[in-house]
Parts: sequence; structure tokens; C-alpha cells
Amino acid sequence: MPMSQSFTDRLFPIVEQLSEHYGTPFHVYDEVGIRETGESLKKAFAGIDGFREYYAVKALPNPRILQLMHEMGFGFDCSSIPELILSRQVGGRGEDIMFTSNNTDPVEFQAAAGEGGCVLNLDDISLIDKVPEFPELICFRYNPGPRRTGNVIIGNPVEAKYGVTHEQIVDAYRKAQAKGAKRFGLHTMVASNELDYSYMVETARMVLEVAELVEKELDIRFEFVNIGGGFGIPYRPDQASLDIDRMSKEITAQFSVFREKHGYAPRMYMESGRYMTGPHGCLVTKAINHKDTYRKYIGVDACMSSLMRPALYDAYHHIDVVGKEGAVDRVVYDIVGSLCENNDKFAVQRELPQIDEGDLVVLHDTGAHGHAMGFQYNGRLRPKELLLRADGSVELIRREENVADYFATLQFAKDNFVPSGS
Ligand SMILES: *Cc1c(COP(=O)(O)O)cnc(C)c1O
Repeated sequence: MPMSQSFTDRLFPIVEQLSEHYGTPFHVYDEVGIRETGESLKKAFAGIDGFREYYAVKALPNPRILQLMHEMGFGFDCSSIPELILSRQVGGRGEDIMFTSNNTDPVEFQAAAGEGGCVLNLDDISLIDKVPEFPELICFRYNPGPRRTGNVIIGNPVEAKYGVTHEQIVDAYRKAQAKGAKRFGLHTMVASNELDYSYMVETARMVLEVAELVEKELDIRFEFVNIGGGFGIPYRPDQASLDIDRMSKEITAQFSVFREKHGYAPRMYMESGRYMTGPHGCLVTKAINHKDTYRKYIGVDACMSSLMRPALYDAYHHIDVVGKEGAVDRVVYDIVGSLCENNDKFAVQRELPQIDEGDLVVLHDTGAHGHAMGFQYNGRLRPKELLLRADGSVELIRREENVADYFATLQFAKDNFVPSGS
């Protein structure tokens, strides 16, 4: 199921009040659900010493949400300077932070090394010589290439721009050793929104095998392996959830085998974004127009600036019309925003209850890669974010953008540069 019954049961009775108080549209996140998912992950992987989730900050880069992650003992996976700053602002320090950039700029290495540093996860062998002060602890992102087939969003690893190849991986660690590295981690990310638990089990097997290979060649020991993010959530009502119980049992067994064979096992990290927060958020928007042409359209007051996934990936987001959940009569609609792009549609030819102007339309599962992906194209601004607290109160955790924000980067005072010779 998409959004949980528990979240729906707590949100829907107050959603009219929220829309009156705050205005629509808004994303609202569920503290209770986020904490439950976090605790269930810790429980599932309790059999692996040193298991830790590094929340993928890009999924929902709001300090209030990151604070929840920090309180649960999670670290942060960052790939840009603002994400590093956010993670440090909520208390992430040193090895609480993984910096997994790709196509890394020198200023990013500086920022990563600053303020107590972080775990540097290098995306390429050529970057080794570009790290200004090579750290003692280093991690590489591994790309298995033809050894694995990827999934829909990430694609075929051979075509993915990420990571060090199988042929380069031993050399990468050897070079790092020559640069003074003494502590080692290994990272991979080969899936996105994967619902087949066995794919993630294969990933764990793969990193342990690569760790074994590198350890044998270089006589080093890995402190951790990181199996990345990509844990899927069921966006469609007919999809089954990822089987975390079987997944964690089988992965834990692999770590036990490794331990028996080598007398120790690395810690296991993961960096879920979607799985942690995706189902615990929704976009609440209001139906403002009704148009009958070749198709029936419902225009809502949010558009793809609030949620890019349907336009970008043709992604399905389940929809409820508040107060009409059980309606028997169904109408086929396209649910659209006001952007001048024909892919600005939250749903295409979707069977829904009859929608009237003023109805609240709830798009499920926007707690990850939702607000964060928004943009300002066409002067369409990003909406506010709310947090439904465990005590039932609601906290404004980001205001909506306004016209002043839109104009903030424009240069009105003259600022000219005349290149020499012209
Ligand atoms: C995007 C990303 C993640 C999170 O992916 P999810 O699909 O949200 O779990 C984790 N690690 C890295 C390096 C990423 O780029």
C-alpha cells in the first residue's frame, strides 16, 4: 500500500483545517511514520555489528527531518556543499557524514575536509591525486559494470556515470594506500526504487566479495561496506512492500559467513532516502478548475514545481480525494498543474471519484525526491512543508517561496565586465 493507514487516519481528519490555516498546496510529513521506519531498520539489521543508516540528504533536505535522523543515531549521505552544511548544522560530525560526490570540484574536497571532516567516498580513480590532503579513512564507489544489470531509474551499470570499475578497484585502493590511507570502506549503489529484496541481498554479496578480493591483494581490512540506497517503496496499491525481514536475515547470514571465514566482518552501512521518508509524506493540493475538452481535466493549485517525479520518470503517485475515499462512482481524469508544459500532469487517465472545485486532492508518497526536486521554471514557485508531530500538532518547517525569492538572484544594479581588447 502507498501512504500508511495510520498516517491517513491522523492526517485526513485535520487536513481541511490545515488547508484553511496554511493555504494550499503543501507537503506534509509524518514524524511517527519516519521514526517507525527508522526503528524497524535498526531492528532488522541488529544482527550486523555496527549497522548504520546514512540518510540520503537529497531525498528530503529539511533540517527538521535531518534532526529526526540524527536523533535515531543515523548519519548523513551528502553529495554537495549545501548538503554538508545542512548535515553539520543538525549535529553531524566527522564519520557521521559520507560525502559521495561525483564529478567532484576542488572546492567540494575542501568543504568535505573542513569542520572535522567526513568520510570521503571517491567516485573515480583519477580523483585520488586531486584530494588536497589525503585522509586516513577512504572509501571508493564501486561500479560492477557488466557483472550486474541495473534497474529502471539507475539503468545499466555500464552506462552509469558513477563509480570505479571492477578492473580499477584494486589499483584505486593501492594508490590510496600510497597516499597514506590506513582505514578503508567500500561503497556501491546499483539500484533505485528496487522492490525485489533479493537484488539488495545480491548487492551485499557483491560488496563483500569485492572487499575480500581487495583485502587479499593488498593485505588490508575494510572497516565498512556500504550497500547504498535504492530500497524501493510501493507507489502503486497493487505492489508489495520490500521484504525487509527476509532481506535482513539473508544479508546478516552473509556477514556471519564472512566473519567465520576471516575472523572479523566489516560494519554494514546503507544510505536510504526513499525508503526512510518516501511513504511518510504527501502533497496536499486543491482542485481549482474543471475542464471538459477531449479529456476531462482537473486543474489543481500545485504543479510540477512541487513534484517532478510524474513528469520526469512517468512515476505513479496514488491519489485520494479527501472525503470521497470510498466513492463508488468513478470518473477518468487527467490531474494537471498550470505550467506551460504538457507533461505537467500528476495523473493521466486516472479513475478517481468525481472531483469538485475546492476538493482537496492528496498525492501520496512525496516524502522523498518530492519537494527537493522542485524548480522555478515558468515562475511556478515551490510550496511549503509541514511536519505532523507525534503529539498531533503541526509544525511549519519551510515556508512557500514568494515573488521576492524568485527575484532574489536577479541583478538590478549595473554590474558590467569589459573583457580586455574589446
Ligand atoms: C540518491 C542516492 C541515494 C538515495 O537513493 P534512494 O533511492 O532515495 O534510496 C543514496 N546514495 C547515493 C549515493 C545517492 O546518489
